[in-house]
Amino acid sequence: MERLIVWKWATAMLVVATVGCGATRSSGCPAAPTKGPSFQTVRRDETYPVVAATFVDFRAAAQIAAPFRVSMGDGLYATGRTISEFCVYYTTVVSDVDCRVDSVTVVVSIGVTLPSWRIPVQVGDLDLLNYRKYLAALALHEEGHVRIAQSFGAKLRSALETVAAPTCSEVLARAHGRVLSARQQVARAYVVYDELTRHGRQQHVVDIDSLPKTLLGSD
Ligand SMILES: [Zn+2]
Repeated sequence: MERLIVWKWATAMLVVATVGCGATRSSGCPAAPTKGPSFQTVRRDETYPVVAATFVDFRAAAQIAAPFRVSMGDGLYATGRTISEFCVYYTTVVSDVDCRVDSVTVVVSIGVTLPSWRIPVQVGDLDLLNYRKYLAALALHEEGHVRIAQSFGAKLRSALETVAAPTCSEVLARAHGRVLSARQQVARAYVVYDELTRHGRQQHVVDIDSLPKTLLGSD
């Protein structure tokens, strides 16, 4: 049977996944699918300045200086944030029987924001030590959000590979549904992760490598 093959780039679907101790923001997706592997991470690391005389003051000031306002309960506000988005690019191939995904690239776009203490000259050694420990723990916590997003992104890519439907618009709808579903899974996993770690305040209890497998979307 003669098969009519039509190649077509679908437009990039951008879906804001988000969260990670924080609010929604768009959009870190590349305008076009980047060359290279079909699963990639694009990451932006940012800091915001915090002016304070001591480490104790820094902890209070960081909550106010943070460019986001996310309550962690107990009257405390988050000082670190991870935003993740799934950027999906795919081509379809059309035959006389159906339209199906021919190739798909998923880019997990990640933005991590941490505080940066403008350390005064007269700072004490203990303050400096405490700050470094605090920042390392916070960075580790945000890394867990990154790991979760990447894990679900990889699963999403696999799920998109096999999408097929009578028409390409149905393929688009199904693919979109899978992206939305992955976004919800990430959002749920972020909430559970933040509960487990109390937003990083108990990060020593749950280190990234011992995260429950369900958090990472593993069966
Ligand atoms: Zn968190």
